[in-house]
Amino acid sequence: MEKEKRVWIAQALCPARHVIVAGAYEADAEDRTDPAHSIAFEEIDRELDKLRSMIPSKVMTIGCPVCEAPIDSWGIEAQRTKFKTIEEATPELDRETEKIKACLFAHRMLRSMKGKPPQNPASN
Ligand SMILES: [Zn+2]
Repeated sequence: MEKEKRVWIAQALCPARHVIVAGAYEADAEDRTDPAHSIAFEEIDRELDKLRSMIPSKVMTIGCPVCEAPIDSWGIEAQRTKFKTIEEATPELDRETEKIKACLFAHRMLRSMKGKPPQNPASN
């Protein structure tokens, strides 16, 4: 019997749940041991490693672009969507990406206007 698939989103989140890196993939609808999950998590990890490798020394730290939580406090988690294929999920994923970009832009504006980092916004 063919197992039902769903689109999942693996995301690296800071403790305030700002999305830093995310990727979508198809995996079993129920089975969290589906190898597709570990492949996606490894991919996210590689992206985080790229960020870490940009730190030349202890002089610079990399933090969440919104709240500056340090990279070591970030976690990776997988969320299931209602979509069955990446093609079906693409319009929704594009909208989410635009929302994240708009949010980051707003925070950068605030920060530069006030000359200091914004307070943790309420996560929603
Ligand atoms: Zn954050």
